[in-house]
Amino acid sequence: MALITVGLIAIMMAMTYLLSQRAAQRSRSTTVILELVEGVIVIASVVILRQTFWVLNGGNVLSWGYAIAQLMILLYSLYAMHNFAVTLVNLAMPLFFYGQALYLGASLQHWWVFAIAAATLFGVILYISHHQALALDSEWRFLLLQLLYGLAWCMVIWSVRPFLLFYTVNVLVVFIIYMWIIRFFVTRVNRVISHFERLDQEANYDELTGVRNRANFDSTTVGVFGVYRQHPTTPITMAMFDIDHFKHFNDEYGHLTGDAVLKHVAQHFNAELTRQTNNGELFRYGGEEFVIIFKDTSPTDAQHIVTSIRDTLQQHPVKINGKQLVVTVSIGISALQADDADFDNWFKRVDHYLYLAKEAGRDRITVEGDTREFQ
Ligand code: GH3
Ligand code: MG
Ligand code: MG
Repeated sequence: MALITVGLIAIMMAMTYLLSQRAAQRSRSTTVILELVEGVIVIASVVILRQTFWVLNGGNVLSWGYAIAQLMILLYSLYAMHNFAVTLVNLAMPLFFYGQALYLGASLQHWWVFAIAAATLFGVILYISHHQALALDSEWRFLLLQLLYGLAWCMVIWSVRPFLLFYTVNVLVVFIIYMWIIRFFVTRVNRVISHFERLDQEANYDELTGVRNRANFDSTTVGVFGVYRQHPTTPITMAMFDIDHFKHFNDEYGHLTGDAVLKHVAQHFNAELTRQTNNGELFRYGGEEFVIIFKDTSPTDAQHIVTSIRDTLQQHPVKINGKQLVVTVSIGISALQADDADFDNWFKRVDHYLYLAKEAGRDRITVEGDTREFQ
């Protein structure tokens, strides 16, 4: 029994780790889906556990070992998975258990015990899901929460199937010993995950501006080019922009101000881009040059988006030491074309359009070779 539980928890641990890797850079909707997947994993683990006991005990799941294993999986999920779906599964479980027992003929006699137990459980579950790190960090808090959790569950079970108090003590002792071992692993897994997130941040994001960096651009574009070449009817557009006369900011106000200008422009573009579309990703290509890859977006739509971001940038100048610095950018835009032999072809064309915008006097945009001023 212990082996099965440990095995299931190990699988959940591996899944949590894999999912957190996937979630690291994804959009909001993907994160929600991954959270639901984690919720399903918890439910699946509970079901697998039940079925296994069913088979091992010849069709009987009335066993304390089984009950403890179940609690361990639920409480583990609460501590290890930082997510809403798992909290919901935990909240639903006592209601499901009680409803099922009533359905199978248990009496309503001790409903008030169930009510007190469920209220305690809900409190503990919500507390843990909102203060995970806090609950894990303090030994005493962990012990107290665990005792309350175990005790409340014993009361839930007692309310439909009364048993001797002696068993409660037994259950709690075993539960506490097991959970301490689990806590050891959860803290390790959490440490590995945060270590991974830090590495991911350092490897893929630019330190100064916080947007995706050149390495991330290189790895993203390889995949994007391959996929979109196979689907020539789905448009994909690249926009490249470069701050005008950026050297002037450095020369006139110093490098720190130059850095602040860069940061402001990058963060403004990033925030506005995320607000306007789910299909755009911004990268700092190098220096004061940035690239946006717009998936499933035509050059005209990409032009509308970057133009409106550029307009709001004019309305939000950089404020440094009481001075307002107006920043302008030049932009080049082009879609991937069927006769682009490789990524470089496409990239060079966009780069050339950016150059045309600069040549024409800066603070301009060139879309598929056509240069114009902003309105
Ligand atoms: P243009 O309108 O033609 O783009 O002119 P520009 O001055 O913006 O372009 P140029 O390529 O002449 O100068 C870019 C400058 O950006 C040179 C470089 O020192 C500066 N730069 C690059 N990266 C950083 C950075 O991270 N911080 C700061 N402060 N300056 C940077
Ligand atoms: Mg420049
Ligand atoms: Mg430049």
